[in-house]
Amino acid sequence: MGGCQSSSGAAESEGTHTLTHATAHLPNLSDISLFNLKNNNWQAPVCGVKKPYLHPECVSERLSQSSTDLLMLSVLPHGLDLNEWMATNTIAFFQLVTLISSALSELCSSSSCPKATGPGDRVYFWTDESGRKLKCSAPLYTDYALSYIQELLSDEDVFPVRADADFPVGFPFLVEKVCLLMFRTLAHLYCEHYTQLVAMEMHPHLNTVFTHLVLFCQSFNLLEPQETEPLQDLITALTRS
Ligand SMILES: [Zn+2]
Repeated sequence: MGGCQSSSGAAESEGTHTLTHATAHLPNLSDISLFNLKNNNWQAPVCGVKKPYLHPECVSERLSQSSTDLLMLSVLPHGLDLNEWMATNTIAFFQLVTLISSALSELCSSSSCPKATGPGDRVYFWTDESGRKLKCSAPLYTDYALSYIQELLSDEDVFPVRADADFPVGFPFLVEKVCLLMFRTLAHLYCEHYTQLVAMEMHPHLNTVFTHLVLFCQSFNLLEPQETEPLQDLITALTRS
């Protein structure tokens, strides 16, 4: 089972799934035929500008939900099983992260991104099944991460599909790991491809998915503070409205 590490101290490490977990509470963001977004009549951040994702006009660009709505969507609904809720959300986040990442696949290459960089000058390393840390390009890291998550989601011993099947004892730990990988995938996009995302008018979707993922992780303590700290300025900006 693979994993991941970053060089600055933060440790550790597609497709669809046919789970019967309820999805009625989740926003339907999966139709990124969503390119019918409104035109933005403001000056897009210029390449090379430090932290273009903090541009006020960028931060305010999100789909319909306010951060309060997204926080409410993250809270465990009364009467629902916690593992079931985490599984449902994990699957939904994975589909959205995969969708956004796929849209950037031609722009995030081994030549443009030879290192899997993250915020705060971090470089993420992949840890293989033998425990070896692998230096890899950003697209390879993303491929490892998404393939690893897909493998987990397809494993009925981890994400059970039968109503009478139990979740494994270590399920919350696996959800933590999956959320970490998804956070890093989006963090790389913010750090290296934000201007391109703005040009594609995809930043409202990135902001929405990222905000929802972070609020969900905060609700269930799924991400270590040292992992999110380099993007805390963005998280603060996105979650105060
Ligand atoms: Zn990249």
